[in-house]
Parts: sequence; C-alpha cells; structure tokens
Amino acid sequence: MERILNAGGMKRRVLIVDDEMINRELLGAMLSASYELSFAANGQEAMDALTAPDAAYSLILLDLLMPVLNGFEVIERCRADDRLKRIPIIVMTSEKSAEVRSIRMGAADFITKPYDMPEVILARCERIIELSEDKSIIRSTERDKVSGLYTRSYFFVYLQRLLALTDKPMDALALNIDRFHLINELFGRDEGDRVLRRFGELIAESFLPLHGIACRSESDTFFVLCERQEDYEPLVAHMQKELAAFSRSRSLRLRAGVYSCESASGEPEGWFTRAKAACDRIRGQYGALTARYNNELYERAVFHERLIGDMQDAIDNCDFTVYFQPKYKIQGDRPVLASAEALIRWIHPELGFIGPGDFIPLFEQNGLIRQVDYFVWRQAAAHIKRWRRQYGVTVPVSVNVSRVDIFDPELERKLCKIVEDFALAPSDLMLEITESAYANGTDRLIEAVNSLRGSGFKIEMDDFGSGYSSLNMLTEIPIDVLKLDMQFVRNMLSDSKSLRLVKLVLDIAAFLEVPVVAEGVEEKAQLDALREMGCDIVQGYYFSPPLPAERFGDLIKKECHTGGNAYDND
Ligand code: C2E
Ligand code: CA
Ligand code: CA
Repeated sequence: MERILNAGGMKRRVLIVDDEMINRELLGAMLSASYELSFAANGQEAMDALTAPDAAYSLILLDLLMPVLNGFEVIERCRADDRLKRIPIIVMTSEKSAEVRSIRMGAADFITKPYDMPEVILARCERIIELSEDKSIIRSTERDKVSGLYTRSYFFVYLQRLLALTDKPMDALALNIDRFHLINELFGRDEGDRVLRRFGELIAESFLPLHGIACRSESDTFFVLCERQEDYEPLVAHMQKELAAFSRSRSLRLRAGVYSCESASGEPEGWFTRAKAACDRIRGQYGALTARYNNELYERAVFHERLIGDMQDAIDNCDFTVYFQPKYKIQGDRPVLASAEALIRWIHPELGFIGPGDFIPLFEQNGLIRQVDYFVWRQAAAHIKRWRRQYGVTVPVSVNVSRVDIFDPELERKLCKIVEDFALAPSDLMLEITESAYANGTDRLIEAVNSLRGSGFKIEMDDFGSGYSSLNMLTEIPIDVLKLDMQFVRNMLSDSKSLRLVKLVLDIAAFLEVPVVAEGVEEKAQLDALREMGCDIVQGYYFSPPLPAERFGDLIKKECHTGGNAYDND
C-alpha cells in the first residue's frame, strides 16, 4: 500500500488523456482503486488540466492520435515547461513506429492497445511513478560534492528502503579522520578536500562488498550502514594505510565506531549517534582503530551534543561567566597580589553549573573553543579596564589560549584588537599556553609565540612538567613565565621525587631567567617550601579560589588600602 500512497498519505493523481470514451473508461476501471484519476478527451484539455492552479500529477497516460492537440504536441509542450517536464508520461498506442518516436521525445514508457492485462498496466504505472520519484529525490538532495558519497539527508531516506528489503543483521558505523582540522590548517583546505574525496572512494570500495551504503555526515565524519561483520579492524587499517599514503600527512589516523542496529532500539539517527559516541571515545588514542558502542557512552554523547548545541546561546546570553583567581608574589615580606588568571564557568539555564572540565576538552575537539576563548579574553580585558578606572591600578590577567587558537591565523590580530579596544598594553593580558600544545606542530607554535611576543604579549607555559615537552624545547621556545604543573605541588611534601622535580624546574627557570608560578597551592606548608626554594608566584586555594569578578574587585580594593602593590609585572 505504501507504494501507492504518496508521502502525504494521499493517493497519487494520474491524468488519462484519450479521445475515445471507451478507452478512458477501461483505464479508469483498472486504475481507480489505486490512483485518483482525472480525464481529458484531447491534448488541449490535457494541457488545461495540467496547468490548472492545484494540479499535481504523478503520471500522465497519453494517447497519441487525438483531435485539437495530438499526443506528440502534448509531450513537446510538457518537456518545454519547467513545472511539467518532470511528470512521467506513458504513451498509449497501437503503432510500433510511434512508440519509438515518443520514447525519443522523452516519454517514460508505452502501453500497447488494446488493453488486455490490467495487472501489467497497473504495474507499469507504479514502476514509472516510483522511478520518477527516486530520480527526484536524487536530484533534490544530490550527492555530497566533496566526497562523492550520499548526503546525510538522502542517506537516511535510502537507508529506510534498504532496511525494508533486507532481513540481515546490520551495523551502523561512524568513521572519522583523527584531528582532521590539522590537515586543513597545516596543508590548506584543498588538501583537506582531496583527502576527504579519497576517503569517500575508499569507503565506497570497502563497504560495497558488504552491501553497505555511506554518506558524509559532516566535515570529516562519515556514516556507513552495512551487513554485520565480526571485526572491522582489518578493513579500517587498510583504509588508513591507503589514505595516509595518499595524503601529505603521513601520520594520518582513522577511527571507527560501531553500533549493532537493533530495530527495537529506536530511530536510525540514534544508531549513528551511538556509533559516533563510540568513535569519539577512541579519539587521539594510538593503536585503537575501532570501538563498539555501550550505553554509558550514549548518555555522554547526548550530553555533549547538548552542550555543543547550546554554546552559541550561552555566549549570546552571557551564561558563560569569567572567574578570577589571584596570583601572589611571595618573595617579599608578605604576599602581594600580582595578577590573576581568568577561568571560565558555565551557568547553564537548565543544567546548572558546568565546570570547564566538562566542556573545554569537548570544544577543543570541534574548534568551538575559539569562540569561547575570544569571549573570555574580551571579558578579561573589559574587567582589567574597569578595575583600573575604579581603583587606579592595572592588575594583569592571564587568559588561557587553547592549542586550537594557535592555528587561528587571525589570533594575533584578534588579541591586538581586544587590547586596543580596551586601551590596554599587550602585557596586561598575559597568555597561558598549555605545555601539551608545544608537543605537536612545534613550528607553528614557535612562529606564533615569537610573533605574539613581538607584539608585546607575555607568554606563560601552563602545566609545565605534565607531559610532553623536552628540556631541549625550552631553549627553542621563547617564554616569559613557567607555570609548574599542579601535580608536583600536590605531591611535593609526600613524595621526594616530586620535590626534586620542583627544585629542578626552579633551577631551569632561574637559568632561563623566567619567573615560576606554582599553582594548586592549598596549604601553608606548601607555600613555605616553595618560598624557601625561590618560587616567585603562587596561585591556589590557600590564598583564594577563583572569584566572581565583583569579589575579585573587592580584593583589589582591599589590597590597595593595605598599601602593598607590585603590579608592575616584571
Ligand atoms: P588550568 O589552566 O590549569 O587552571 C587551573 C585550574 O586549577 C582551575 O580549574 C582552578 O580553578 C584550579 N585550581 C586553582 N587553585 C587550586 C587549588 O588550590 N587546588 C586545586 N585542586 N585546584 C585549583 P578550572 O577553573 O576548573 O579549570 C580547569 C581547566 O580548564 C584549566 O586548567 C584550563 O585548562 C581550562 N580552562 C578554564 N578556563 C578556560 C578558558 O577560558 N579557556 C580555555 N581554553 N581553557 C580554560
Ligand atoms: Ca591556565
Ligand atoms: Ca595550569
């Protein structure tokens, strides 16, 4: 029955054009149960019916020899009319020669008179309508231009049909190129597109034998539905090898998430959300090419989708707020407020408080972090300016610069503009770049850091000692401040190795002639030990947690009154 009804659940309309009443009646009797019928007794009546305001025909059955306007003329006029040219026409004739001519002119099929087998005629009508609707789906949604695979919307339409035709167990797969944005950023968009096109070819080659269909869902994420396999690892490994050999990025990695479709488990869209969640779980994990979905993953994926969807609103409505955590100079007679670190908080209207740990890594993965960071930088600058006006002192604020920002060619221009807009010196807005950023794409980082320093910005290497950097790199990369990773401070008093490392970092910093900030200082004993070893600046709960801007303002005010002032950030 679905094959007869259209998408709106109504019978499709068919126009029967024949000058002989008996023929109209015969056809009418065969088709009236399946279609909504209209009749015309000559070509002119047919054109009138077709061009009537509410006309929406799925098929025309057309006699050729008629008075007033014959069938050939009707075909010609329809083909010349943009609104009518896609309606399929079946010609009805008893002459072989006319068949050929009408098919050449664009008729879809023919039926020979006299009409003998009603079921054959009905089947032909059905088939022609179906074909023409398939074509129009393909036309309207097209293929994805970059990869050559289906577009996402067409994929989901086609998938339904495929599922109706098969009773084999199926898998939903999400495939992704790990850190694809780096290919775009390092080698340019053309190279990115080239890689996506090749990936599309590889997917088609690999999954066709598994009776699969595939689409590009968005940027570098591809979906595949195919007959269930034990293990996709060899297949993905093969694609990865081919794609790496093809691309300019030799270290290119692929990953795939797999969800075994159960018809009981809701909509196909959901299967692919699950497959994608599994795929995301192995992001950045070396050696892991494929992962299967489990339920907990799904919950997390849904939460993440929500956060991604709400990000722009959060910026527009200022649901993001910036907290400020003070940093104190500790080498004088008493600790003196030196500067602050800007730390973002998300007060979600429905989900409540969300810490940066829940959304910063997520937004780093998809690049949204750029917008969020830009928001924070402007807020921080605005506050520096406000406090300067209110209290007559300039308290420098460090902002976090994600490694994704480093690849933004506009980074420096954006930062300079902010500083200019709020009449600050570049050194008032200090830039914290996490150590792990220094591990990959070092050339770009050195270039960016040099250039930013050239414009007068101060660079702090955040989380120093947490991982990747080598001592060697420290001599290559110019920095202004080292921020010791929190781990060392935490363990320093209980673990002698941590203590030795703190000493080592302080020695290195002294050699490089840069100050060290120790963060995560919670206890007096830690503070005393750090001071003893020559650490310059301390940040942590011992002095203060991150504070809302207003309360940080109060802190500045208090500090001004007690006289101590070391805001000259040397
Ligand atoms: P981070 O840059 O290393 O920031 C220091 C983190 O340590 C902050 O966590 C801070 O609240 C916390 N902290 C400060 N003092 C203490 C202490 O005494 N003990 C302990 N246990 N923790 C302390 P928070 O605010 O949750 O931020 C977490 C991370 O999120 C930050 O680590 C940073 O990497 C990222 N982040 C925060 N705001 C931003 C932002 O605006 N942009 C970017 N790109 N990343 C941000
Ligand atoms: Ca930081
Ligand atoms: Ca840090």
